[in-house]
Amino acid sequence: MFRSLTIALSIFFLSSAFAEAASINMPKSASQGEVVKILITDPNNEEYRIQFSPVGWPQNKKIILISAVNLGGGKQMALIPIAPDEVTGLALITIFAASSGNTHAIEIKKANFQVAKGVTFVGDPKGKLKEKFDDEKNELKRIFALSTPERFWKEDLKFVAPLKDMAVTSPFGQIRHKFSRKDGKWDANHFGADLHADVWTHVYAAEKGIVRLATKFLAEGKIIIIDHGYGLFSLYFHLSRLQVHDGDFVKKGDMIALSGQTGASIGPHLHFEIRLNGVAVSPWNFMQEPPMFKQKAASPPFWKKRGAK
Ligand SMILES: [Zn+2]
Repeated sequence: MFRSLTIALSIFFLSSAFAEAASINMPKSASQGEVVKILITDPNNEEYRIQFSPVGWPQNKKIILISAVNLGGGKQMALIPIAPDEVTGLALITIFAASSGNTHAIEIKKANFQVAKGVTFVGDPKGKLKEKFDDEKNELKRIFALSTPERFWKEDLKFVAPLKDMAVTSPFGQIRHKFSRKDGKWDANHFGADLHADVWTHVYAAEKGIVRLATKFLAEGKIIIIDHGYGLFSLYFHLSRLQVHDGDFVKKGDMIALSGQTGASIGPHLHFEIRLNGVAVSPWNFMQEPPMFKQKAASPPFWKKRGAK
């Protein structure tokens, strides 16, 4: 009797000790293009940092180091982007605070991305044109390196659709064969999703945030980038008219632009992209995946309408 009481008491103390410690909730696997959501519950509210070490680390240097976002009430969240071309296999996630550190394995799975037909020829810009391309690249790098310490997204990660009617013409992650005289052949993933949109269709802000870029780029055409805080951004390309300026604060669902076909675009559409710590992830982590666009059946030629054979 006395003995069982001691055991019961020690179990009680043990479990109360556990209740005081932090608990970590994270998935055991993730696919290319996914966002890994890590939830930390720590009544002591220690500051946590998270390191994602990709497969092949340290040779593979695509390491990501971020701070957890404090949600209040002893809860913290960290979002890790898995690139569409992330190496598959067992990667590592290390979660550490001042008094603790733990490494967890996470299996990176191959996504079943569509493979595009044909080859895209990529030019090799020179002189002034190359300078402009390089300037644009640096501008994007500078923006994606921002980690605005303000959270404009909700912890459920639900954004609104950038268009009223959503249909995909070219999916996220699509594998495209590219060729340039300088670099030869290579494959590259589509970093966003192309959405069916006639010219002058209203485009809406997917989440609230600060406009970090509203300008015209060579390939992206008229472009808007919205900063949603803590390294999360939404991008809108090939627009015809911009309704916002750099530094503007936008609310979720605000009309920010009219769609178009500016820049390197063979037809009107909206390229919609989400970046997390500079890495492109599937927009469908943040909203329901829309169906593929179905071309309307061509109407029968007029002589058939008249009933002629
Ligand atoms: Zn696109």
